[in-house]
Amino acid sequence: MAKAIQEKIITSLAQGDFVSGQDLGDKLGVSRAAISNHIKALAEIGLDIFRVTGKGYKLAQPLTLLAREKIFAHLRLIAKQSNDSTKVLDENLLEVHSLIDSTNSYLLRKIPNQISKGQTCVAEYQHAGRGRRGRQWLSPFGSHIYLSMYWPLEQGMSQAMGLSLVIGLAISDAIAFYVNEDVQLKWPNDIYIQGKKVAGILVELEGQTQGLSHCVIGVGINVQMPSSIGEQIDQPWTDLSQHLQQKIDRNELVAQIISNMNKRLIQHQQDGFAGMLDDWHSKDLFLNKAVKIITGSKETKGIYRGVNEQGAMLLECDNKVVPIYGGEVSLRGIK
Ligand code: ATP
Repeated sequence: MAKAIQEKIITSLAQGDFVSGQDLGDKLGVSRAAISNHIKALAEIGLDIFRVTGKGYKLAQPLTLLAREKIFAHLRLIAKQSNDSTKVLDENLLEVHSLIDSTNSYLLRKIPNQISKGQTCVAEYQHAGRGRRGRQWLSPFGSHIYLSMYWPLEQGMSQAMGLSLVIGLAISDAIAFYVNEDVQLKWPNDIYIQGKKVAGILVELEGQTQGLSHCVIGVGINVQMPSSIGEQIDQPWTDLSQHLQQKIDRNELVAQIISNMNKRLIQHQQDGFAGMLDDWHSKDLFLNKAVKIITGSKETKGIYRGVNEQGAMLLECDNKVVPIYGGEVSLRGIK
């Protein structure tokens, strides 16, 4: 109930005009006091709303909300420009949400019977956005992209190896469409610009080691970080707005992400990761640099030698190169 009212308030304010508390209350069938409480709740999730006595509430900046029809218009344009009709997603496969717990959690709940290959969910806000190993992914309202896609793995979980690297390439392709600077990839799941994190990937699996298993791929991309949220992030970050002259159209960005993810996932399904190795290494943040890997409380130092055809990281220690597979491992540079 609160969610439905808050979504309607956001839609009423999105254009950036003043809307009175009384009018909102009448329209939504609640009191002015209730509207005031909902406005406070919306401010807490990142919406910059102010109030002027006698005029009502107004957003500091008008907001272009995510909209299915706009995303599909961009997808059709991308398909036309590249002469590739496979780039247009089936209309039933895209859901746009306003407020959600996490786009990954939402799709995971639909497995196995209510979900189809390529099904995608985007949201304006996640109140429980996740990184790896339960870490938080800060997801303020209307500022960034939070997108998840379902991808079945017909031959079991072994196919999942390297998947976050494949998606890293897809996201860097989408970002490179806008940004001229180098987009860098940090094994296994992060995307950087100028050494700062701009996007993260979370691949979650369900099913058996052999036989059909299910994969939900989540992507968070920073577009325009509110300063109050940026202050809460405990590592260097950036957003696309810092690298662009023009305001980014998030609906177009979503279409770019969907189309590039589909393209890379199909390429991976057909040929594996081997054909993408050179591409990955050209964007690799730490290639041939001194690094440490952290596994629980253990740290191992060495030289990072890129990744292999399975998507494992290659670490050189004592003149030997050993592959390290994903999971519980974190990679960090050494200054
Ligand atoms: P790892 O190398 O193990 O992946 P990580 O710190 O990058 O380490 P992730 O799980 O990829 O971990 O991402 C979660 C972390 O990212 C959070 O702990 C926080 O430090 C940071 N973070 C959270 N929200 C954002 C955001 N919107 N933009 C950039 N960084 C964020």
